[in-house]
Amino acid sequence: MSTALVVGGGPNGLAAAIFLAKAGLQVTVLEAADEVGGGARSSEAIVPGLLHDHCSAIHPMAVGSPFLSSFELHRYGLTWRWPEIDCVHPLDDGNAGVLHRSVAQTAASLGRDGSRWRLVFGYPAAQFDALSEDIMRPLLRFPHHPLMLARFGAPTVLPASTFARLFHTEQGRALFGGVAAHAFRPLHYPMTCAIGIGIITAGHRHGWAVAEGGSQAITNAMLALLSDLGGQIETGVRVQTAAQLPPADVTMFDLAPSAVAAILADRLPRRISRAYTKFRRGPGAFKVDFAVEGGVPWTNPDAHRAGTVHLAGSYSELAATEREIHAGRMPERPFVLVGQQYLADPQRSVGNVHPVWSYAHVPNGYTGDATAAIIAQIERFAPGFRERIIGCTVRTTTQLATDNDNYVGGDIMTGAKDIRQLVFGPRITLSPYAVGAPGMYICSAATPPGPGAHGMCGANAAQAALNDLARHA
Ligand SMILES: Cc1cc2nc3c(=O)[nH]c(=O)nc-3n(C[C@H](O)[C@H](O)[C@H](O)COP(=O)(O)OP(=O)(O)OC[C@H]3O[C@@H](n4cnc5c(N)ncnc54)[C@H](O)[C@@H]3O)c2cc1C
Repeated sequence: MSTALVVGGGPNGLAAAIFLAKAGLQVTVLEAADEVGGGARSSEAIVPGLLHDHCSAIHPMAVGSPFLSSFELHRYGLTWRWPEIDCVHPLDDGNAGVLHRSVAQTAASLGRDGSRWRLVFGYPAAQFDALSEDIMRPLLRFPHHPLMLARFGAPTVLPASTFARLFHTEQGRALFGGVAAHAFRPLHYPMTCAIGIGIITAGHRHGWAVAEGGSQAITNAMLALLSDLGGQIETGVRVQTAAQLPPADVTMFDLAPSAVAAILADRLPRRISRAYTKFRRGPGAFKVDFAVEGGVPWTNPDAHRAGTVHLAGSYSELAATEREIHAGRMPERPFVLVGQQYLADPQRSVGNVHPVWSYAHVPNGYTGDATAAIIAQIERFAPGFRERIIGCTVRTTTQLATDNDNYVGGDIMTGAKDIRQLVFGPRITLSPYAVGAPGMYICSAATPPGPGAHGMCGANAAQAALNDLARHA
């Protein structure tokens, strides 16, 4: 029987492990932390019974993921739940851009911009399941649906700032800009549209779902499936050198490229090692989870029903803050993302005390405390929020990186999503998962199709490994 070793048990490591175990390999996962799950974990904090997601929370890309769907994780306890409204981007005058799962409903709420929203997102959202066969894998492949991909892909090369000019209203511009800013890039850079268009399109097809019982449920379902397939897990094992790696036919690294270069050292061809060491980092995240009595007192009524609320004010203010963090300067009013997963999944609350998830975009390695800036940004759109806070837990960029080696400097995207790294992954190649040492692969969110708890980097890397095994059999 062929054997596989997976280093790192995040969603991509577990996806690779499942894919390989399903193909008949004897799989062992080595995980540095005391439990697997990486960015897909949840636990009680602040108040007994109050359930918080450690990292990933909202899952427009995971809910329709070809990997998660094909393995029928609902049979292992994964249930998706949807808030009434996917996302709200409030403005200072009390208005907001409102993103519904339905394109038509979103268009109706956007007034003058409605027809443009429908024009841009209607067609790709309707075709998303077919499109995802092409966009959830390395882009440099002959596409299954070339015409559809060309139509979808053409605007994605634009800077978000150019694309945002399509919209006449501040609501339309800010709504689009807030989602585009998930790329953690200055919005006037080329191709900063891509992640925003991808998330909005996926959301219009599948919604901005949360996992019932917390994102931990994604990990638990994967673990249960892997265990059924005979996979083994060893936790508390931080792999730092190649000498720690037991021999295996396939070795998968669910790690940042720099960690792969450090572990494999001179086993890697020099040019690949150099590319991995030079792999560019994105800005950081500063995370604060709150226990909030009675929920957030938003001024905008739709924000009370939204799973996600984007706080940055107008499009131009958002663009300016993203430019600042990219330049290594902490803005006074950073872009803050707020998650109200409990609206879709009420079991996360304790009585009238609700878990509110938030993080701010900050410079990579930011050493200051962004808690006050996050509270002030929420207070700006929800006066009285401060008085409702019962407690909070804070994870700085340093703590994020300590909890998970992949998040260097708080970079939760596992690498800057500039054009080169977005299109190719960690190095310029048609085989982004191969690390250049026989039988060894990288499968983390540094590889295509990129960040998220969708497992597709792991599934694609495992498929590449199986193709190689078959070729060499
Ligand atoms: C604050 C935050 C908010 C986020 N929000 C969302 C969201 O709402 N929606 C979404 O889809 N995504 C979100 N993400 C991103 C998402 O969590 C990641 O893209 C995803 O977890 C990446 O999965 P992965 O398997 O590539 O790596 P990870 O989840 O990073 O897992 C890597 C695993 O490898 C282990 N490891 C690292 N080094 C070693 C070593 N040397 N030896 C052994 N094990 C090692 C780590 O402990 C970890 O368990 C968020 C992330 C963060 C941190």
